[in-house]
Amino acid sequence: MIKVKKRKFLLLPGDGIGPEVVGEVKKIIQWFNKNKSLDFEIDEDLAGGASYDKYGTPITDEVFYKALECEAIILGAVGGPKWDDVEFSKKPERALLKLRKELKLFANLRPAICFKQLVDASTLKPEIVSGLDIMIVRELTGGIYFGEPRGIKPIDNGERKGINTHTYTTSEIQRVARVAFDLAKKRKNKVTSCEKSNVMEAGLLWKEEVQELHDKEFKDVELNHMLADNCAMQLLRNPKQFDVIVTDNLFGDMLSDQASMLTGSLGLLPSASLGAKNKDGKIRAMYEPIHGSAPDIAGQGLANPIATILSFAMALRYSLDLDKEADALEKAVQGVLDEGLRTKDILSKGMKQVSTSEMGSAIISKLQ
Ligand code: NAD
Repeated sequence: MIKVKKRKFLLLPGDGIGPEVVGEVKKIIQWFNKNKSLDFEIDEDLAGGASYDKYGTPITDEVFYKALECEAIILGAVGGPKWDDVEFSKKPERALLKLRKELKLFANLRPAICFKQLVDASTLKPEIVSGLDIMIVRELTGGIYFGEPRGIKPIDNGERKGINTHTYTTSEIQRVARVAFDLAKKRKNKVTSCEKSNVMEAGLLWKEEVQELHDKEFKDVELNHMLADNCAMQLLRNPKQFDVIVTDNLFGDMLSDQASMLTGSLGLLPSASLGAKNKDGKIRAMYEPIHGSAPDIAGQGLANPIATILSFAMALRYSLDLDKEADALEKAVQGVLDEGLRTKDILSKGMKQVSTSEMGSAIISKLQ
């Protein structure tokens, strides 16, 4: 068997159900190493509350440098009520923000896929969501969550004023739009760009810059512009009209949550956060399920590992260009759902309930 160069994943299981779901990814990585001509190296470390408990900080410098060096980070989830009283700068979630900010992970990819086997889990009618497959690309490091000036200040009449600033530059808009166009080319070749160009100057700039990039480099991709509030309505009315949606940080936050709920279960949805290419042409990236640490079910074998496993499939596809292996893994997940195996969160009548690790093992046996 010819072995290719070792590629290192940094696993940061985090808190709550994080270690359980990332544990299933570890099994899958080990399966690929044993059965395919791949040689993934795994490094595993603490982040979030687990790191705070041991080192008094949500992420140590050592772990942060590992994150800089690795091919891709696979994160479980961080946080939980145990750390509610921890001072703001040391809260478990700061680990995530630091990684996103310092690794300049500016494009957040959130697929919303409705598996045909789970169409009943959605609150929408089956014909609206069955076969849904859309990708939301959210700008992650700019816009109103980061703009200056910001803060709360006293004003003359004894009242206070809260200030946040929504700003975007040409390069910030075009680099995330480029990710969306590139993705669309691998999918149905259609991008919808969302903003509020009718009431916001930064929205107008967004629209113009996306259009300019399209006209210069991506004429072969279909581009539509849509106001973000209309997009929220269209996602409920006829979500299958979309392929790739690209939008800013604030609208993306809402639209991606809305889109994920079309599919009915938090435990199934992966995400990727991608940065710029470094000088070797490699993209910095972090992959994680969209759900949190689910403290209410932690340690009971009830967590659904599929979102994290599909996040790993995204890592294979986007960080390692291993499309064939990513396809195989996604097909294995479908196969297990076809067989009627379900974790408790997606259990329905006539289906068989399995634990977190049984679900992981069943997916591996489908890979065989
Ligand atoms: P949550 O996503 O952890 O849980 C919401 C509900 O969904 C819970 O009932 C939970 O049991 C269920 N659930 C979530 N993931 C599941 C899975 N894989 N399988 C089965 N059921 C699942 O959201 P929350 O309760 O609002 O947050 C809990 C903690 O997680 C908080 O501390 C929050 O800050 C943190 N959080 C972290 C991230 C992250 O690390 N990226 C994201 C969201 C929330």
